[in-house]
Amino acid sequence: MAVIFDPNCIFCKIGRKELSADILFENDAYVVFKDIQPKAPVHLLVATKNHISSIMEIQEKDKELIGGLILLAKKIAQDQGIAASGFKLVFNVGRGGGQVIDHLHLHLLGGWAVPAQKKVEV
Ligand SMILES: [Zn+2]
Repeated sequence: MAVIFDPNCIFCKIGRKELSADILFENDAYVVFKDIQPKAPVHLLVATKNHISSIMEIQEKDKELIGGLILLAKKIAQDQGIAASGFKLVFNVGRGGGQVIDHLHLHLLGGWAVPAQKKVEV
């Protein structure tokens, strides 16, 4: 199935290799890359290739896509060696929720020393 994209969207452009990013993983449905302003020792963005602007736009038909996004984040956390120490998965929704790019993505944050307490704003 063809990817739905917005030609003006930065994350769509990354998914289509029209903009460069530090990509750690990609397949037909998802792309994982480093946040350019990391808020944690490991701060990755797990994005869909399809342009969905926000969690507020997901529908019943997207259940499998969103489930796959979370499973992929888990796998990436394991691959990055941060699963055992713990990590955060965060969806920012809307400007008030800290969403900067209007393309669905999950923040994967981790790599802190254990058992240090941490407070992270994303
Ligand atoms: Zn997009």
